[in-house]
Amino acid sequence: MDIRNWLTEQKKKDLLRQLTPVKRLPQGQLVVPGHAGRRLLDFSSNDYLGLSCHPELMAQSRHFLDMAGCGAGAARLMSGDLAMYHQLETEVAELKGQEAALLFGSGYLANCGVIPALVGRNDVIFTDRLNHASIYDGCSLSRAKLVRFHHNDLNHLEELLHKQRGKGEALIVVESLYSMDGDRCPLRDLVQLKERFNCLLMVDEAHATGVFGKNGGGIIEEEGVAGRVDLAMGTFGKALGSYGAYIASTKNMIDFLINRARTFIFSTGLPPAVIGASLGATRIIRREPELRRDLFAKVDCFKAALAEIGLTSLGPSQIVPIMIGDSSRALHIAQSLRGQGIFATAVRPPTVPEGTARLRFSITRHLEREALQKAASLIGAALQAS
Ligand SMILES: *Cc1c(COP(=O)(O)O)cnc(C)c1O
Repeated sequence: MDIRNWLTEQKKKDLLRQLTPVKRLPQGQLVVPGHAGRRLLDFSSNDYLGLSCHPELMAQSRHFLDMAGCGAGAARLMSGDLAMYHQLETEVAELKGQEAALLFGSGYLANCGVIPALVGRNDVIFTDRLNHASIYDGCSLSRAKLVRFHHNDLNHLEELLHKQRGKGEALIVVESLYSMDGDRCPLRDLVQLKERFNCLLMVDEAHATGVFGKNGGGIIEEEGVAGRVDLAMGTFGKALGSYGAYIASTKNMIDFLINRARTFIFSTGLPPAVIGASLGATRIIRREPELRRDLFAKVDCFKAALAEIGLTSLGPSQIVPIMIGDSSRALHIAQSLRGQGIFATAVRPPTVPEGTARLRFSITRHLEREALQKAASLIGAALQAS
């Protein structure tokens, strides 16, 4: 491949991805280069509850740093198995309503490690078409047969289960809250289906943990299905404001993964400071449901302001996408909004299907009500002008 040519072509098609170094300020503000030092409102962060700068997380993080140093020094199956990991795993398992949990370096690594540990060549994976790239990569690594069903369409899934379930192991993988559409998986019906067809069910709660459920245990908690989900995956990098990820499941399953998940076995344990922050976050989300109420009051405020100017958004959650369709138009609107102080991402193929480029607004507790209302009216104007 001629790399220079490829880059030029991507740029021509408005598909070239580029990094933008930013400086984060309080109240969801960002300073981005090329905007004359102007402050932009950050509508693309997954720090939904604003925990990344919470004093308790920062204090706990410093405490663990002072106690145990910067790095774990080894993989956990060597000499790197710090006691603090077990403490966090116990509390995360409780949060997710499971017997046990296992930490991974990140959500990407969790999905890439767990799926190939569960299924192989003679097995089949049923995956929602809109699943995250890390799930797809885990599926590829497993070499299992991959069967994709239409997004959130359980009739389609059932039809495929009848045809393709086979005699081997079968794994169904979904997200409980989809990051690009902000919509939810019909989990109660799905657990019935997986029980009927005797499949394993893995639910990725990357965007739901901390945000949904009475204790912040995610949509599996809210729907009361935690005990019927075989593997609950989540990350500390989004609503929990830290870094790293976990799988929560039965004790047997966790013992199995310790022996089989290669991204766990062959990777250094997470740094103590990160564990401190994750532990602080896990405790705060259980203790302070008002954080979720506050977030959803802001989501409602933003959606009401959009509705007032005739814009309907997809999705019943803190992720508020506005469908545009054409990639170039989406990019153009996102750029124009940046010029007016709104930082939102234009999500384009291959992240989403062809012809469904969109602007994705994620609402965090950092954003103030006035800012949300002002943003909505700027969005309306930018759409009209484009
Ligand atoms: C962000 C995300 C991941 C990856 O988690 P990281 O901890 O950021 O690596 C996995 N699955 C889904 C659905 C995600 O949105």
